[in-house]
Order: sequence, then C-alpha cells, then structure tokens
Amino acid sequence: MKLVRKLVPFGKKKLLAGMMQASGVNFALGGLPSWSGLLVVNYHRIGARESCPFDGNLYSATAERLERQVQQYQRHADVVGIDDLETIVAGRPGKHILITFDDGYRDNYDLAFPVLKQAGVPATFFIATGFIDRPHVAWWDEIAWIIRNAKVSSLAAGRWFECGLQIDSNDPRAAVGRAVQTYWQLQGPATEDFMNDLAREAGTGRCGPEQARNLWMDWDMVRELDAEGFDIGGHTVSHPVLARQETSVQREEIFGSMRRLTEELGKSPKAFSYPVGQPDMFTEETKQLVREAGYTFAFSFYGQYDPMTATDRFNIPRCAIDFDLPPAILQSRLTLPQVFARK
Ligand SMILES: [Zn+2]
Repeated sequence: MKLVRKLVPFGKKKLLAGMMQASGVNFALGGLPSWSGLLVVNYHRIGARESCPFDGNLYSATAERLERQVQQYQRHADVVGIDDLETIVAGRPGKHILITFDDGYRDNYDLAFPVLKQAGVPATFFIATGFIDRPHVAWWDEIAWIIRNAKVSSLAAGRWFECGLQIDSNDPRAAVGRAVQTYWQLQGPATEDFMNDLAREAGTGRCGPEQARNLWMDWDMVRELDAEGFDIGGHTVSHPVLARQETSVQREEIFGSMRRLTEELGKSPKAFSYPVGQPDMFTEETKQLVREAGYTFAFSFYGQYDPMTATDRFNIPRCAIDFDLPPAILQSRLTLPQVFARK
C-alpha cells in the first residue's frame, strides 16, 4: 500500500530534472561515483491501471515501462538482492539498487516476474500472507471500489468525516485519498466499523471474496519466485497500520508473517517492510518486534536513499516508483538520489 497522492506531482523537481537531462548533466554524472550506498525502489502493481475496478493509484508501471526502468537500473548501478545487504551495510563501496514489490499482487507474478527473469536481476517481493491464505479485497482497494461505485454524491458529516466527504463521480481520486488517509489514523478495531459504515452510507455493500479472484498470487507462485532466486519478505498478515495496533496485535501480525512464510517456503525470510511505511506508521516497539521475530532488515516507505553511513537496519528507506513518474525524474534519481530520491 502506498502513500503518494499528490495533486501537483513532482513540481520543481520535474523542472530541474528536465534541465539536468537536456543539458547532459545526467549523462555526465551517470558514469561517475556521484553517490554510493543503497537506493531502494518500490513497486506495487504492474499493468494497465485503466481496467482496474479498485485503486488505480496502486499501479507503478506497465510491464514495458518496468522493463525500460530495469535496464536503466542496470546501466547505473549494481542491482542487488537481500543477501548483498550485509556487505553493503558493512561498507561495500559502489552504487547499489534494490528492486522491491509490496503486497503480493498476482500481476507481480504474471507481468513483473518475466521481465525480471529475462533481465537477470534480483528483486524482493514483500508478501502480506493473509491475502495469499484467504484471498479478499484489501482495505485500500475496497475503499476505492466503494467510493467509485457510490450511489450518493457525498457522505454526511459524522464520526468519520468531520465535514462530510464529497464524491466527484467523474474523478473520485480525491475522495478515495481522503478516505484512505482517514483509515490510516484509526485505532485497531475501529477500522472494521469504518468500512461497514462507508459501505452502508455509499449504498454499495462490502466487497465479497469473489471479487478477489486472481487478485493475489497463490503459494505455488510465491514458491516459484523463491525457487527462481528472488527474495520473499514479510509484510504482516493482514496489512494493518502497525503503529495503531495493540502490542499483541502487532506481535501476531509480525510473527504470523514470519511463521507462514517459513512454513510455505521451508526457510525464514530475512527482510520485512512496514505496511504503508510512513514515519508514523511504525514505532520503536514495532521495530523491536520485527527484530525479535527473526527478521534482519526492515524497510520504510517515505522516500530517500541510504548512503550507508549510519544505517538503521530496521528503517531502510525506499522511494516510490509512480505510474506517472516522468522519465527525467527517474534518470535524475539514478544520478543524484541525494536530491531526487527524497520522495
Ligand atoms: Zn503494502
């Protein structure tokens, strides 16, 4: 699940990136040691977002664009896997890129896997095991589906939305964004009340499990990725915002992901990524539980690259690859992540 919902994406950085590209600065820096450390890029869904009945904002790239981006990564840096991280953290010099995918969507297997295999690059797939064990529509996708299919043009002010929620049926993205952000702030069990109220007030009802058909990978697909040498990591069981949960629930989610992945793969995963991954979505306690569960690295998701000078193994930064990411921004991010990987 990702955060980025900008109304004016990239702004001044786009202008600067365009100038760097046009002036040849990117080309000049590309072969130089303009940075060192680890740049982690993150994807969610791959494919054509137009036909998706859920949250189109989850799409990171088409398969063709992913292929071009992977080639860019290979030109600029060493594309590494989780097993490389120990030596990189210990100071291995050079530019390193780690490619990651979150959540476990089926399109990762259908579309990203062939591209990555063909290119011969490692990548890491962070799986929320509950979606594989009991396929159902994830809360952010269900929020998007409810609002996109709402039978009303606004929701009344009340418990969830202080000033109500306007729904523009021609472009419901702003309403989806507000509802998702409201969900992020809810404590533990309130999320289920929120979903039920949203579905009732919108007049849509809740999504059923049949709507999740082919939405997620199954365990055979996850095992095949593992057998092909890709890394599989933990991403909780049900993908809650961990910082809003009681300790016992956090523990269940974190240890449960470790247990199910170990059972299905026959070996323990080393890496974990925090659901949503913003600074206030996990706490020091969360990090400690991830460590106790046996994970050795954990990833956040609020931009930045890691020069590996004072690395926190349980908060390695990642930056989003957005569907609308201008190629000049990506190019600049690969040559000067100090500036262009902040978000
Ligand atoms: Zn996620």
